[in-house]
Order: sequence, then C-alpha cells, then structure tokens
Amino acid sequence: MPILKSYLGGAWVEGGEPAQALLNPATEEVIAHVGSCAADLGAALAHARTRGGPALRALTFAERGKLLRGMCDALQAHRDELLDLAVANGGNTRGDAKFDVDGATFTLSAYADLGQELGERKFLLDGEGISLGRSPRFHGQHIRVPRHGVAVHINAFNFPAWGFAEKAAVALLAGMPVLSKPATSSAMVAHRIMQILVEKAALPEGSLSLLLGGVGDLLEHVGPQDVVAFTGSSDTGSRIRSLPGVIRNSVRVNVEADSLNAAILGPDATPGSETYDFFLKDVLRDITQKAGQKCTAIRRVLVPTSVSDRVRDDLADRLAAVTVGNPASEGVRMGPVATAGQLKDVREGIDLLARDGRLVFGASDLKPLGVEPGKGFFVGPALVELESGADGPSVHSHEVFGPAATVVPYSGQASEAAELVARGRGGLVSSVYSEDAAFTVEVVLAIAPHHGRVFLGSAKIAELSPGPGTVLPLLVHGGPGRAGGGEELGGARGLGFYMQRVALEGARPVVEKIAGIVAS
Ligand code: NAP
Repeated sequence: MPILKSYLGGAWVEGGEPAQALLNPATEEVIAHVGSCAADLGAALAHARTRGGPALRALTFAERGKLLRGMCDALQAHRDELLDLAVANGGNTRGDAKFDVDGATFTLSAYADLGQELGERKFLLDGEGISLGRSPRFHGQHIRVPRHGVAVHINAFNFPAWGFAEKAAVALLAGMPVLSKPATSSAMVAHRIMQILVEKAALPEGSLSLLLGGVGDLLEHVGPQDVVAFTGSSDTGSRIRSLPGVIRNSVRVNVEADSLNAAILGPDATPGSETYDFFLKDVLRDITQKAGQKCTAIRRVLVPTSVSDRVRDDLADRLAAVTVGNPASEGVRMGPVATAGQLKDVREGIDLLARDGRLVFGASDLKPLGVEPGKGFFVGPALVELESGADGPSVHSHEVFGPAATVVPYSGQASEAAELVARGRGGLVSSVYSEDAAFTVEVVLAIAPHHGRVFLGSAKIAELSPGPGTVLPLLVHGGPGRAGGGEELGGARGLGFYMQRVALEGARPVVEKIAGIVAS
C-alpha cells in the first residue's frame, strides 16, 4: 500500500499520525495512505523563497516557457498512468480523467507558448510611458516585476491535475516558485505528477514543492511577498482571507469558489433547431461529466415557459440513457462522486432543491454497474423543475456539487432571464443559447457584471466549442461574489497576480533606460 509523501525543501517527506486513507470512490477500497503534515512548513517556504525564487527570476520568459514545455512533455509521456490513477482515486470515467489530465498539459503548453512570445526578457512593461509635468523631462512608466515570495496554491479535490497545472504554469512563467497543496481525498494524481516532474522535468531546486496531508500551519508563515491562490468552498476561502497573518502581511489572496452557473435558452432557439440541440448537449454534458463535480457546470437551466415541458422531457430522456457505475466497467458514462461526505452533501442538496419545485428525474433505486451492492459513493443524475414564477430560494443560492440541475422557466424576456441569473450573486460562467442578436446583446450586457465569463452558444460554434464548462487558458477564469472574487488564467493577464506593478517616476532618460532594460 503506497504511503504518499510531500516534496518540501527539495526532499520527499513522510507525514505523521494520524494517517488518512485514500479510497477508490467506486469500491471504497483503500488504495493509499497519506500522513498528516509534520514538516517545518516555515522552512519549506524559506527554501522555495531563497532557492527557487532567485533561480526562476534569473531566467527569461522564454526560458521559463521551456521549463513549462518540459513539464508538459514529461506529463504527456505518463498520460496513461495518470488517467488510470484519476479513474481509481477520483471516480473519473476515462473521459473525465482525460478532461483533467489533458486539460493540465494543454494549459502548460499554452503558457509555454506564451513564454516564447514574451521572449528574452525577465520583466514586463505595463502600458506606455507618460509625460507627467510641464516639461517632457518628468516622466512615468509602469513595469511589472516578479514578487520575491512563494506562490502557495491550495486546490480542490475535483481537478487534481488541471488544478495544479492551471495555477503552477502561470506562477512559474511569472517567475515565482510554487508550493502546491492538493485536496487530500484525490491526492494520488497530484502526488504522481510531482514525482514525474521531480524526476523528469529538470526544474530548478526550490521551484516546485508539494504539501500533502492537510494545510497544517502553512498559512501562519506566509509573508508580504507571498501570494495564496485558493480553489474550494466559499467557507474555506473566507477562513483563509481572514487569517491574522494574511491580513497583517497584506498577502495577496485569490479565491475561486462556488458558482450557480446558468444556461439561458433564447425564445428563438426552438426545439428542433441546431441551437436547441447544442444547448441540450451542453446541459447534459455538464450534469454528467465528472458526476457534476465541476465548478463551471450548469446548475440552473433557464428556458422560456412555452418550451419548458419539452426541455424537461428531452433532458430526462437523455439522462435516463446515462449508465452510472464503476468507471472501470465497460459502458459506464458517469462515475461516483469523490467522497462519502460529498455523497451526503449532494443527496441533501438535491432534497433541498426539490423542496423549491419538484424532482422530475432522479433514480431512488440506483443500481450502479459493476459495483458490489451498497458500495461506492454513487448518486444518479437528478433534474428538478420549478413552477413558472416560483421563487426557488435554494435553486438560486445553494450549489449542489454533483449531477443535478434545475429547469427554471421564464417569460422569454431578456430582462427577466438576466434578473434570475443575477440571483446567483456572482458566478464563474453563464451561457446564452440564441441566434437573435438583440436578445443576446441585452442578456450578455445585463449578466456580464455578475460573471468572469459569458458563453455565447450559437450554432455557428457548435462544432468548435467544448461548451461553457471547459476553462480555456487564454480566457480569464473566476468570478465576483459567490464565485470568490478571483481571476486566474486569461493568457498574459494571469501573470499580474504573481507580479508587482510598480510606477517609475523620474527624469525621462533614466526612466526610459530602465524601461528599455525591462523591455529587452
Ligand atoms: P474545500 O473543503 O474548501 O477544500 C479545498 C482545499 O482547501 C483542499 O485542498 C483542502 O484540504 C483545503 N483546506 C481545507 N480546510 C482548509 C483550511 N482551513 N485552510 C486552508 N486550506 C484548507 O473544498 P472542496 O470540497 O475540496 O471543493 C469543492 C468546492 O470547490 C465546490 O464548492 C466547488 O464549487 C469549488 N470549486 C471551485 C472551482 C473554481 O475554479 N472556482 C474549481 C473547483 C472547485 P484538505 O482536502 O486536506 O481538507
């Protein structure tokens, strides 16, 4: 039975008691152990700051990009092994596992390309030079330089590969060393990724560390040059933001949290149209992919009242064809949720949603394929329907992190759809499926302030798009309010979190000389 170790201070470190068992969520079989963190985490951060930071800052963007390319290639070479681990420890189907693992390498690759584009420089100019006084001699210029701390990354259980890569790629390219803390329950993939990278990716000493077995006192040691990027529940995010050391040192914190993502069907996208089919496909994918344990999954399905019965029936028919079971078995399309705790939360959450309306699809006698009776953290897909005009307090306020969505009828008016979406109090992504330009523009502009991303679901992109649930590295990910108020990725935009923007103010030749060094 493997005992997973942390990688801290340039060495593999075993945790102490009590150890936690990692399970296969389909069988409840124990497949690894991880001890509680017993290391000196202040020393681990100091090692990353003093060894990894200077080594990365000495490299140009192009050289850091090459490091990312090496990480990407190393993980690609072990793709099958990582997919197998994601199936075993994450309850992922092979398709779900690819979504996570290939998403990780795709993101590393995108940031490797960005490193090449940014070229042989170590800093960034931010905008043009500015004349500040009556004479052009008095000049200003903004630049961005890497922070001299550690990027502490705390990740959620649902994307152990992508969650690691989407944060690490950006921080390393910016020139900051990373200490990554994956969620414990699904840590096998993140642990194997770190082993592969330590063995194969030739990373500078101290540039990458891994902490397993709980966060320990890590956040008591963060300082003013460090940053914390967190993905997980709003509660944990709020706790991190309010830690005394974080407040005292004004530690930059980015939070990616919950979201009640909505999909709006426009009144023009009638059943039988290409746009309608595109919409159904995306909603169905989001309910079932990764058993709905995707932060970007569609939770609220807003449809004109005139077609809501049809949408409900079409979704229910398609959900009935989804085979739930052990992802290791042939033909299984949806696996279990990740832990017993998640299962309990999801079941309770579905009950809560159903109190707002009625459960129109959801198997009470689920018999997962290839599973011993009574074993595994399985819940079947569930569809709830609200009455037209019903308030739906839980539907608009409670994220069920599992395979569940609610059909919410609306009048067909753009303003009403936008008002319903805004009840989610801030989200990662919502989508509009329509070919009617006026409707789309009105909805998009009304819901944009409440989101990090808005997906325009037109038949014109149906063949090209992976749907709203896929986070692309060149677009920002994050959202206001409930979603945590954070922002990640977005190509070069993501680097900003890991870099300090500094305004240079002085005599033009001196400022321009420094700017010239920065730019070259
Ligand atoms: P969680 O319980 O908040 O855990 C997230 C991470 O925080 C884990 O690594 C966990 O470690 C760690 N953690 C727990 N307590 C902590 C503390 N007091 N201080 C610092 N770190 C702590 O969330 P989860 O249940 O894993 O994730 C599900 C939630 O994440 C969902 O609500 C989902 O919407 C959200 N999510 C958001 C995004 C996004 O990009 N916005 C992506 C994925 C998931 P342990 O595992 O060791 O406890």
